[in-house]
Amino acid sequence: MAGEFLSLEGVSYHYGSGGAGITDVSLQCPPGSWTAIMGPSGAGKSTLLNCASGLLPVDQGLVHIGQHDLARMGEADLTRVRRDLIGFVFQDYNLVEAFTCLQNVMLSFLFGGPRIEVDDAVRALQAVGLDGFADVYPSDMSGGQRQRVAVARALASRPSVVFADEPTGALDTAGSQLVLDAFGQVAARGSTVLMVTHDPDVAARAGSTVFLVDGRIHSVWSGCTAEQLAMHLAETTLSGADR
Ligand code: ADP
Repeated sequence: MAGEFLSLEGVSYHYGSGGAGITDVSLQCPPGSWTAIMGPSGAGKSTLLNCASGLLPVDQGLVHIGQHDLARMGEADLTRVRRDLIGFVFQDYNLVEAFTCLQNVMLSFLFGGPRIEVDDAVRALQAVGLDGFADVYPSDMSGGQRQRVAVARALASRPSVVFADEPTGALDTAGSQLVLDAFGQVAARGSTVLMVTHDPDVAARAGSTVFLVDGRIHSVWSGCTAEQLAMHLAETTLSGADR
């Protein structure tokens, strides 16, 4: 499926309980782009991802995926857009325990989304190093293997936009490389990738990195090495602590 332009303009979301959330975030992610989000813990990275994917209703601002205006959509239309256009790698994986790996990877199709061929689902598992795991249940897998099933699921439907929250958090170096290679391939095919990570080595694989501090965009960097990103992360953490 062709990639879609992801655009956030002046987006704010604050938790009812007084939690910080995000304030006045604007971000443009063209098709084929791969953007990382970094920042200190509590900076609003997951909140931003959830607003951009329509999982959280924004208080203010605009969120567009192509022509779709997520901030003004009803729940039924939002569900359809998420099912048909979006792949999401959740921090806690969100696998269905009663389903095999293959069924998990084909989940959106099983629930009425765009067709996913069995061969494509098997290939998605192979791409993240899970050859031969199609009939295995998540409960029989390690955390790292479960995370890779979540990645295979997010990518198998060839979504227009991929959102990933710490997609390598449970992975060793080899597993991370497989997952990052897979993201690189979907971006090269034209999908839009937006990924939260705390790891400069992971962010360095993306085309650009957005730093968040206290729920606001602090800076955006392109073409940086992992060492440069680690320096920027240290600076943003200090600038947050100064406030
Ligand atoms: P990050 O992903 O950068 O660690 P989050 O987006 O999870 O940050 O959180 C941003 C801010 O919003 C933090 O201050 C956090 O405490 C607050 N927050 C996050 N989730 C909730 C929630 N469900 N209820 C209240 N406050 C929340």
